[in-house]
Amino acid sequence: MSIHSNHRLLSFAILLATGTFSACTTMAPATQYCENSNLLVDSSFDGGNFFSCSVGDENDVSIVIRPEDEPPINQSPWYSFRISPKTATDVRIVISFTDGFARYWPKVSFDGEDWSPLAATSARVSEDGRTLSISLRIEQAPVWISAQELVLPSFYERWFRALATHPEVVTQNLGRSVQGRPIQIAKTESRAESIILLGRQHPPEISGALAMKIFVDTLISDTPLAIDFRSRFSIIVIPLINPDGVVLGHWRHNANGVDLNRDWGPFTQPETQNVARLLSAMERMNLKLRLMLDFHSTKSSLFYTQIPDESDSSVDFATVWLSRSRKRLPDFEFEHDPRPTSDQANAKNFFFNRYGIPAITYELGDEVNRKDIAAATPVFAEEVMRLLLER
Ligand SMILES: [Zn+2]
Repeated sequence: MSIHSNHRLLSFAILLATGTFSACTTMAPATQYCENSNLLVDSSFDGGNFFSCSVGDENDVSIVIRPEDEPPINQSPWYSFRISPKTATDVRIVISFTDGFARYWPKVSFDGEDWSPLAATSARVSEDGRTLSISLRIEQAPVWISAQELVLPSFYERWFRALATHPEVVTQNLGRSVQGRPIQIAKTESRAESIILLGRQHPPEISGALAMKIFVDTLISDTPLAIDFRSRFSIIVIPLINPDGVVLGHWRHNANGVDLNRDWGPFTQPETQNVARLLSAMERMNLKLRLMLDFHSTKSSLFYTQIPDESDSSVDFATVWLSRSRKRLPDFEFEHDPRPTSDQANAKNFFFNRYGIPAITYELGDEVNRKDIAAATPVFAEEVMRLLLER
C-alpha cells in the first residue's frame, strides 16, 4: 500500500482485504548449464529457460527447446540463455524446437537489461522452421540471447514504485500466484465507472507488455484529456497476472500447468481468483465496468473482439477506436479481427458475457519495432479516452 491516506482510497483497501489466499507451493528452479574450456552456457536466471544444452570442443552449442508441459497448446517457443566466455571466442549455436518452430527472432543483450534484435546476418531459421542457427563473436562479457527481451517482475516493481508516487494512484497486492509471488494492482481514484486493463497472462508476449505500460502511463499523464478522463473513470491495472510463468520462462502456463486465459469463469487458479474477488467486490459496491483490455502478442497487431452484431450498442467500440487511431497513424499496421463469441473461458468472453461491455484482446505483433510501439500506443490511449468520454 502506498502512503496515501485519502479516504476515497480506503474503500479500495477494504475491498481488497476480503479475499483468502490459497496455499503456496514452491518448486526449485532447474539449474541448467553446459560448458567447455572456453565458455559456459546457462539459464539460471529469471526468465531463463531451455530443455537441454551441450557444447563441443569447437564451441558449437546445441540447445533443445521444449514446452513446460505436454502437449504444447500454443506455438510460443520461449528460449532464454546466457553465454559467459572464459576467453574471447567464436560461437555457433543451434537451437532446436522439438514441439514448435522458431517463432521469435533472437534478441541479444550484454547486460540483461538493454536488448536489441540480433543482426540479420548473425542468425538463420531453417526452411522447416525447426532450428535457429546463430553465429557470434563473444569477447569478455556475458551475452544474453532470448526469444524476446526479458521483462521480469523487477520491471513491474520499478514501474509500480513510480506509479505509487502519483497522487491519484494506489498500488497494492491483489493476492498471490501459485508459487507465492505478488499479483499487483494499481488503481486511480474510485469513480462510479471503471475500466480494467490486464497483462501478461502469457509470459512470452513482450510486445503487448511494453505497449501496456505506455498505454497506462498515457492514461495517468497530466494532459487535459487524461485529467478529464480520470475525473469520470477509475482505471484498474493488473499488468502481471502470471509472474510464475514469467520467472520460469514458460511458453504459456502458470506453475500449475494451466493457461490462465482459459480460466475466466471456472476461476480454478489463484491468479484469476484474485481478479474474480476484485470483480465481486466491485459488483457489491455497484461500480460499473465500461471497458476491459487484455494485452497480448501474436504474429501481427490486432484487436480480437466479439462480432459487432453481438453487442447491444449501435456503434462497435473497437471499430471506431481503431479507425480513429489509424487515421492518426496511417503507417502503423493494426487490424480488427472480430470473432463470434465462443464458450472458451478467456478474459474477452468472460467480461463481454458478464458485463456486456467492450472486451478486447489487444495484440501487438511479436516483432513490431519497439520504437513504433512507443510512438503509436499513446495515440491508441488518447483515442480510447475520447471515445469513452463521448459515451
Ligand atoms: Zn496471449
